[in-house]
Amino acid sequence: MRAQRCYLITRCENCKIPFYFKALQKTKRCPNCNKLLILSKLNILYKADSAEEALRIVLKLKQPDESIGIIEASKIIRDEEF
Ligand SMILES: [Zn+2]
Repeated sequence: MRAQRCYLITRCENCKIPFYFKALQKTKRCPNCNKLLILSKLNILYKADSAEEALRIVLKLKQPDESIGIIEASKIIRDEEF
């Protein structure tokens, strides 16, 4: 498994918009408010194996109704690991 192929989903610390970035990336400008973000200082919400999956999660996070579904899915994963 290669960590550098992994995508991480987080929120801008300034405007709270969700976005994704490659795991090895250090900084990123927020696509919404243009703030330069230090990615290691942000809380990671989700992990994705591909850019497509990451984008799907970001789009869901932008829709409050469907974000509940993602939270439930992550709980199921945690239960399986346990
Ligand atoms: Zn922002």
